[in-house]
Amino acid sequence: MPGRIQNKAALITGAGSGIGLESALLFAQEGANVLLVDINLAAAEKALGLIEQRYPNVKAAAIKADVGKEADVKAAVDKAVELFGRLDIMFNNAGIMHPEDDNALNTEERIWDLTMQINVKGVWWGCKYAILAMRKNPDDPARGLHTGGSIINTASFVALMGAATPQLACASSPGGSAPGPVLPHTASKGAVLAMTRELAMVHAREGIRINSICPGPLKTPLLMDFLDTQEKRDRRLVHLPMGRFGEAVEVAKGALFLASDDSSYMTGTDFKVDGGLTSCYVTPL
Ligand code: NAD
Repeated sequence: MPGRIQNKAALITGAGSGIGLESALLFAQEGANVLLVDINLAAAEKALGLIEQRYPNVKAAAIKADVGKEADVKAAVDKAVELFGRLDIMFNNAGIMHPEDDNALNTEERIWDLTMQINVKGVWWGCKYAILAMRKNPDDPARGLHTGGSIINTASFVALMGAATPQLACASSPGGSAPGPVLPHTASKGAVLAMTRELAMVHAREGIRINSICPGPLKTPLLMDFLDTQEKRDRRLVHLPMGRFGEAVEVAKGALFLASDDSSYMTGTDFKVDGGLTSCYVTPL
């Protein structure tokens, strides 16, 4: 049985951990050739080792790149084209929520700028170089490959709804109970949604689909290390209709859908994988 993205060439940023790691494994399982890109090369190489062990028939490689640097993003896309001859799927997933990210009154400008550099400019450059590469994709109907492609940008539920509690520790609320939203992170994810929609419209007739994926709060080590008491977890869980945090692999499955031809009539969407969070007024008892 061919996989859902058989023979396609994929590049995933932030592939060394969390959503990016689970997506890399899933994309390879579904037959794609995958370039794993991360600022943490050791993490990306560890993920590559898992792919080589589990899916020896796919081509995969890992490289170091900082998505906050345009030259690194261009080099990563060039590497994917060099390795695979094309780029069908670009998953702009890498993003940060800086430990010093804070509210409007306390955030330092350097933290704002760094967050925008990685979370917004990184996605812009990822889209820019992916679009340039996807325009040149050779048409290969026999292998189910065509000019164009699918770009997926990771935003967040925080781009769609406000939160008065911090998602992670921030400078003004080390205990996590005082108000202290992570303003630059939230603003950056709003920018990802707006940018994705506009790019999707501009490039719709080139066969390039561009969608955002909006994960809800996930059971990642980073979040769970911070939510280290039942009381802190319950403060969030009461707002989650399903009564649980999401798993990174559940977001990866959403990314796979957007990457595959199963979503062939979808572009410009804010695709939510949030357990119903952003649709919720009152949760079940
Ligand atoms: P994670 O911290 O587990 O993984 C992020 C990866 O990105 C890491 O391997 C890290 O080394 C890499 N990275 C960081 N900065 C980079 C840079 N400048 N260049 C290249 N790689 C870089 O995070 P995650 O939870 O998997 O989050 C992935 C994306 O999902 C992020 O954009 C995040 O904002 C978003 N998100 C996460 C959650 C959540 O609850 N975890 C919720 C909503 C949105």
